[in-house]
Amino acid sequence: MIITIASGKGGTGKTTVAVSLAISLAAEQSPPPLFLDCDVEAPNAHLFLHPSLTEQQDVGLLIPVVDEAKCTHCGKCAKVCQYHAIVVLGPKTLVFPQLCHGCGSCTALCPEAAIREVPDRMGVLERGAALLGIPFARGVLDVGQPMAVPVIRQLLAWAQPAPGQVVLRDAPPGTSCPVVAAVRGSDYLLLVTEPTPFGLHDLRLAVQVAGELGIPAGVIINRENGPYPALDEFCADHHLPVLLRIPFERAIAEGVARGQTLVDIHPEYGDCFRQMFTQITLRAGKE
Ligand code: SF4
Ligand code: SF4
Repeated sequence: MIITIASGKGGTGKTTVAVSLAISLAAEQSPPPLFLDCDVEAPNAHLFLHPSLTEQQDVGLLIPVVDEAKCTHCGKCAKVCQYHAIVVLGPKTLVFPQLCHGCGSCTALCPEAAIREVPDRMGVLERGAALLGIPFARGVLDVGQPMAVPVIRQLLAWAQPAPGQVVLRDAPPGTSCPVVAAVRGSDYLLLVTEPTPFGLHDLRLAVQVAGELGIPAGVIINRENGPYPALDEFCADHHLPVLLRIPFERAIAEGVARGQTLVDIHPEYGDCFRQMFTQITLRAGKE
C-alpha cells in the first residue's frame, strides 16, 4: 500500500500531515511504515522524524563524453537526442550536461563508438531509522542541480518496502514533473489543501494529475478557519472525499514551528489519522 501525500502548492502543511500519519501508524503497525521524503529540492521531514541517517549513496546520471579523435561529426547522436543535449557544430560535437537526461541513446547509436559515459553526481540518497523505528529515506538534490526527477526515481528504486509494509511518500509541492515522478505507482493520493482561492486553484491542478495517472485521491483541508463553500463544492463535484479537517489554531502553528507533529501537539489526532488510513485502504481497494 503506497500513499503519497501531495499538494498543489507549497506551504499547505503537506509534510506536517505526512509525518503525523507516519507517527500514528507506527504506534500500531508492525513493521512501521516506510517513510520516503521525495521533496528532494527542500527535504524537511527529518526535522519532525529525527532519523539517524546511517547509509548514503551518491545519485546521478551517466553523461556522454565525445572522443573527437574518433568522431566523424555524422550528427546521428544529435538527431536522436530529444533534449538537444548533444549538438554537432561544424567540426565539433558538444554535450550540454545540464540538459542531458542520461538516456544512453546517443552512445548506443554512435557508429564510431566515439562516445563513452561518465557518472555525474546530482545528489545523494540517505536512509536510517527514525522515531518509533520508522524506516526513513530521502533524496537530497545538490545545490545548482536542475533535475529532481532522476533523484526521486532512484530514491524509489533504492528504498524498497518489506512485503506488506505501508509506504508513505512525501511528494514535492506543485504539479510538475518531480511531483508526477513521486506520485506514479501510488495506490492513493492524499491532497493537502487550505481553504483559500489559491489553495482551491492549486488543488484543481493536483486533481488533474491524479486523474491523468488514474490514482484515487482524497483531500485534507488544513488551517480551516470558517466555511469556504467553494472548496467543499469542488470536492463534492469531483467525488473527492474530505478525509480530515485540521483547524487553524495558534497552538498547532507554534508546535509545528518547533518541530512537533500534530500527534505531539494533540494526541487525539493519532486516532484520527488511523481512522483515515482505514478509510483510505477501503477506498484504494486494499482491504
Ligand atoms: S554519432 Fe558519434 S560519430 Fe556521429 S557525431 Fe555523434 S559522436 Fe560523432
Ligand atoms: S544520453 Fe540521452 S539525453 Fe543525454 S545527450 Fe545522449 S541522447 Fe541526449
